[in-house]
Amino acid sequence: MKWGPTIAVVSIILLAVGAFFIFVLQDEGTGASLIVLTPFSTHKVELEGGAVPIERIIEHTGATYDNSTVLATTTDGEVLSVGGGTEITVQNGRCLLGDDSELLGLSWGGGMEITTTMSVARTALYSMNLPAPGVPLVWAGVERVVVLELDGLGWNLYSNANGRLNNLSGMDVVMPALTTYPPITNVGTAMAVTGLPPAENGIRARSDHTLLKPTFLEVGENDGRSTAWIEGDSGFLDADMENNVDSDGDGTIDGEIHEAVMAHLMAGTEIVLGHYHSIDDAGHQSGPESEDHLEAMSNINGYVGEVISFLENGTEPSILITFSDHGMHEGRDGLGVHGEFRHEDMFSIVGYELLGGAEPLPEPGLTVVDDISSTVEITFEEFVELPTVEAYLVVKGSKGDEGGNYRGVELSTIVDLHTSGDPVTIRLSAMDGYAVTLPGHYADEGSGVILAYEKDGEGLGDDGPIRLIIPRSIAGEYNGQECLKGVIRLEVNS
Ligand SMILES: [Zn+2]
Ligand SMILES: [Zn+2]
Repeated sequence: MKWGPTIAVVSIILLAVGAFFIFVLQDEGTGASLIVLTPFSTHKVELEGGAVPIERIIEHTGATYDNSTVLATTTDGEVLSVGGGTEITVQNGRCLLGDDSELLGLSWGGGMEITTTMSVARTALYSMNLPAPGVPLVWAGVERVVVLELDGLGWNLYSNANGRLNNLSGMDVVMPALTTYPPITNVGTAMAVTGLPPAENGIRARSDHTLLKPTFLEVGENDGRSTAWIEGDSGFLDADMENNVDSDGDGTIDGEIHEAVMAHLMAGTEIVLGHYHSIDDAGHQSGPESEDHLEAMSNINGYVGEVISFLENGTEPSILITFSDHGMHEGRDGLGVHGEFRHEDMFSIVGYELLGGAEPLPEPGLTVVDDISSTVEITFEEFVELPTVEAYLVVKGSKGDEGGNYRGVELSTIVDLHTSGDPVTIRLSAMDGYAVTLPGHYADEGSGVILAYEKDGEGLGDDGPIRLIIPRSIAGEYNGQECLKGVIRLEVNS
């Protein structure tokens, strides 16, 4: 018997069956659903297969998209700011951003300005003139930073508080801030205190406790500042914390925590984080907006008021930052729960107030240092008055190519104006401490290398105020890291 023809026939049959199954599977799974949040609503959008721009996805919720920030939360622990023109690929029941990053959902302001809780550490660090991993909520320089974490006080609860939180709502700014998924205490707190998403700080789930990145308190401590993280008795993250117990037996540890916060303020501790738990506790035990829950809010409001008046009457320029790690919604039993990708859980609050004579500063400009002549400080206002160029450039980002129309100042313009001699290398540094060194010919006239301050007619937001843009014509398939964000310093080596 000859086996050859039999094997060939069987192979053909198997291939045909295989192809049929692949066809069936693909056919069943081309579309997908995606959740879109605003601070006040949760929408489930059904999408057909193929590439869809984010603005069209938002319009599926019935809203008109206004070109504001859209935040993409991915299953691999990123929280990314994306433009309305960015395309999402829908295939086999999944929504992909870039080549392989799966989306959990999108969030936008729905007409309101929003931020993420990452702005807590970024604002704390920038205000103390320490390297910050991104743009702060306000440009300020202070001697003291006080951060109050109000566990479980989501944007939804805050908005319905009816004057019970008047000290909090009276702060300079309080805004909706997206926390991360899952919206639970250790994951949400880790993102706020490091200023980085779970993919970078290492805290993605309840069982994770080891931070891969320093907290703003650790960065301050390494710089010689006095710090205190005042907590309850839980070890939800491995960090240096001062723990408290309910020593007066009144059913909450927040009285003890508040006493410890005030003691540190009086002792002159420069960076203080106080984590208050009673709003979350009462929400779990008695339900959202129950009498206990509202009473807990009133108590916390009193504590916030005491901290504000202490700093207000002091002579040290200070910033008070308030935030929540997540929100809460009502479960089937009427009690409060959280942990889902829905607006009540995912939208927390971030607020700040400048006190003790602190004033907001203008956006940072550029410090130009030359090894022959002296240092020049260019303010941001002066920078945007320099001769500008516009260029459509594609930047290689962490989630694929991001095209845009950039406006900025050519590197050659700044080097010619403010330095002498032929540059051999140019070193650019960013506010997060990152730096890149470029070859001197990047500053040749017409090289196309620019320091941008606008993209598609808007400021650069989290990528700015000034960002290095290197066109592909000069850098080839360069690494996205080279397109440094938050550039504040330029050094020329001749
Ligand atoms: Zn919490
Ligand atoms: Zn909770």
